[in-house]
Amino acid sequence: MRLDRFFSSQEILSRKEVKEAVLKKQITVNGETAKKIDMQIDPQTAQVCYKGQAVAYEPFVYLMLNKPQGVVSATEDKTHRTVLDLVPPELYRSDLFPAGRLDKDTVGFVLLTNDGDFAHRILSPKSHVSKRYEVTIDGPIAAQDEAQLRSGITLADGYICKPCTLTLLSDCENPVYEIILTEGKYHQIKRMFGSVGRGVVFLKRTHIGGLELDKTLPECGCRKIMHKEILEIL
Ligand code: URA
Repeated sequence: MRLDRFFSSQEILSRKEVKEAVLKKQITVNGETAKKIDMQIDPQTAQVCYKGQAVAYEPFVYLMLNKPQGVVSATEDKTHRTVLDLVPPELYRSDLFPAGRLDKDTVGFVLLTNDGDFAHRILSPKSHVSKRYEVTIDGPIAAQDEAQLRSGITLADGYICKPCTLTLLSDCENPVYEIILTEGKYHQIKRMFGSVGRGVVFLKRTHIGGLELDKTLPECGCRKIMHKEILEIL
């Protein structure tokens, strides 16, 4: 990889800034002062320093965001705040995108990454990466409707959902269920409960695969996902 590309890919310096830094002898590679911005380096093994500070190479990043209501799962939007607007400057990279969408009024776990293959793997139905939600509905549902939801309910447009896991967590005026899906159709949970005549009043995604949204992460909070946690997702 070219030296200037190394710095720009990590969003540390632009190509112009690398040129200036090289002229000022501020960059070293394996202990030698860099002389050209197009010198080739192996990003995995080269010891690159800028102004005497080692520069770590991170090709991919994976972030966990606790999305609040009112924020859209998009990279840009003319009227609403996006999930990218919530990424703190020290974690922000311009190539981040959300791996999967939550509705504007849904809260909880959004995974942001710049790794397209990984995003494809967690979203592809073939990978069977489940998504777990806590859903509050506007009234009780009959046992036979629960059974229908579990075995694969037919939505208003004729789509037959895959079987899912549905567990009643709180049996009150507004029952709370945990629901685990292995697919992610547009407004799926709202449409599933709509098929049994119920509205969703609150929806939160709590898990992607086996990884739980960090309970210590406040609303709007965002942190890196550790390598061992990535393995829990897949
Ligand atoms: N199902 C929905 O209806 N909305 C979401 O945001 C996620 C799943």
